[in-house]
Amino acid sequence: MNILVTGGLGFIGSHTVVELIKNNHTVIIADNLINSKIEVLDKLSTITGIRPTFYQIDVTDEQAVESIFNNHKIDGVIHFAGLKAVGESVEKPLQYYYNNLVSTMVLSKMCVKYGVGKFVFSSSATVYGDQLSPLKEDMELKQTTNPYGETKAISERILTDTANANDGLAVSILRYFNPVGAHESGLIGEDPNGIPNNLMPFVTKVAKGQLSKLSVFGNDYDTIDGTGVRDYIHVVDLAKGHVKAIEKNESGVKIYNLGTGQGTSVLELVNAFMKANNIEVPYEIVGRRPGDIGSCFADPSKAEQELGWKADLTIEDMVQDAWRFEMNNK
Ligand code: NAD
Ligand code: UDP
Repeated sequence: MNILVTGGLGFIGSHTVVELIKNNHTVIIADNLINSKIEVLDKLSTITGIRPTFYQIDVTDEQAVESIFNNHKIDGVIHFAGLKAVGESVEKPLQYYYNNLVSTMVLSKMCVKYGVGKFVFSSSATVYGDQLSPLKEDMELKQTTNPYGETKAISERILTDTANANDGLAVSILRYFNPVGAHESGLIGEDPNGIPNNLMPFVTKVAKGQLSKLSVFGNDYDTIDGTGVRDYIHVVDLAKGHVKAIEKNESGVKIYNLGTGQGTSVLELVNAFMKANNIEVPYEIVGRRPGDIGSCFADPSKAEQELGWKADLTIEDMVQDAWRFEMNNK
């Protein structure tokens, strides 16, 4: 298939491009580089031996997006492009609603106009709100706690309504849990601008000496050691889930959790990192981060049954690969 990957130079998008090319798909990338670097395109060429066609455009720009659909016969779209920092979304709600919703509307409009059969969307476990894990796709969604989460819930609705009104469009909504790790080559990985918000990139920066210590947000949750529990998934496993979804779904709206089903606490992850990489990560326990929940992990059985997809890589793989990328990344 000819697959348009929006946000294809970002963290999850770049790993998905590798897996798509490995599975003989032709990839066209659209990215405005707001949170990625053009060098990733060279890295993708090195890893795969193929240089994907690249458009530096904003996917909220309808004319620019339409020109891609005019230039290529697109069979499917995987829409990663979006802003994703929860705290920033509270400070700049309009920027988040505009970027994340207009992009989804422009792309789905083009899919309908140009008869594109497949659309895969990056959603998030955040749409479940604070509910008891394991989380299942058929649970009622709870009110999200920030504009970022709301853009995911609304995008899911926009895409569901669009697919229901257009028989030819199959939509896959993928709810990611906590993607971490990096490609085994160490060439691509998570490289956020500024001080990281998420746990794993913060840990790698502390290990590298670029930040003095990790703040562990709370040790009074009802979890194994009191620290927050999440379902960390290796980004390469996550990327493979996209290939399965775009290849398998032929009609209607399908929603899948992409997680491992295993909960890991902050301290378990930090200890696994120190042990596997033989390096110290100084940390201190501080108060809870506002808006955080104690525990969040997937029931990933639907994706296994319907897509034949299951996460294979371990926490050890995740912490080793994340560290290899950080060491390579000057
Ligand atoms: P990322 O920031 O690394 O990648 C997003 C890419 O989209 C970047 O390359 C950025 O430059 C590009 N982009 C953003 N807005 C754009 C626009 N209007 N036009 C063109 N390009 C644009 O983020 P990621 O971690 O790879 O996340 C990819 C998607 O997955 C996002 O939609 C994110 O919300 C979602 N998601 C991520 C996580 C996570 O923990 N990383 C969890 C759940 C869902
Ligand atoms: N966390 C932490 N210190 C940090 C960043 C995160 O203790 O500097 C904790 C956070 O409270 C949560 C877990 O690590 O329990 C995962 O947080 P992250 O921001 O990576 O993901 P999310 O909150 O989206 O699940």
